[in-house]
Amino acid sequence: MIELAWYKKCLRRDPTSTIQRYCSYIMKILISNDDGFTAPGIVALFEALKDVAEVEVIAPEHNNSAKSNALTVTSPLYVHRASNGFRYVNGTPADCVHIALTGLLEYRPDLVVSGINNGANMGDDTIYSGTVGAAMEGYLFGIPAIAFSQVQRDWLHLDAAARKARELILSLHQQQLVTRSPWLLNVNVPNLPYADIGTVKLCRLGRRHAAERVIQQTSPRGETMYWIGAAGAAADDAEGTDFHATAQGHMSMTPLQVDLTDHDHLGYWAQTISCLSTGADCT
Ligand code: MN
Repeated sequence: MIELAWYKKCLRRDPTSTIQRYCSYIMKILISNDDGFTAPGIVALFEALKDVAEVEVIAPEHNNSAKSNALTVTSPLYVHRASNGFRYVNGTPADCVHIALTGLLEYRPDLVVSGINNGANMGDDTIYSGTVGAAMEGYLFGIPAIAFSQVQRDWLHLDAAARKARELILSLHQQQLVTRSPWLLNVNVPNLPYADIGTVKLCRLGRRHAAERVIQQTSPRGETMYWIGAAGAAADDAEGTDFHATAQGHMSMTPLQVDLTDHDHLGYWAQTISCLSTGADCT
């Protein structure tokens, strides 16, 4: 187990330290998000990780929530550095991680961490989420990645969520899981004081109802405007889901995969397709 004090000595590159051999274990973490580089969630995440890892923040300039894995391929991307050292990009969360891993960074990070998002990313949210998209981009490049979200959108107890994120990352690192084959974790943290947050529950994704109706308004110029409606309420929040765990005050952790193949129905479709090609009645 690597003690926190050792990390600090390594990060200071203390030449008199007798623990320099451990310094190769210092994690290099790339942080991104979808709420933008000024969002309290990414600042809290950086503050929580900066003394236990070499941390680089590369995040969207503006809010890119619900941008999923979108990449910008029809216009150039620009990278600027803010006064706090964060780099920001006029693109999506996946753009940030993509350009970081394909030339912007001169090294390969050990871990990509996304968040902490302003609001839950549970169930169907994970398909749309830019927070998950940033983490997934790291995973697609073969790097372990975690997306963190707070369940409510009020930043309440953000310090507790950041502390929990740091603890989870440190324990994954201490178990030597960060340098192994890539994985993708989706973590939601309830907005509770640190002492009241329960254990980490391994969950499957729940399901949501379809989104609420589109909101129609008239613009000052008399045109009809449409606003995408709110996400639907939970449709499957049974025990074992992320919805259930967080409602009980626990952190939910769901390992995600990217393969969208409907493996369970491959047999059904094999049969169906042979009916289609032979013209047989398969009803
Ligand atoms: Mn967001």
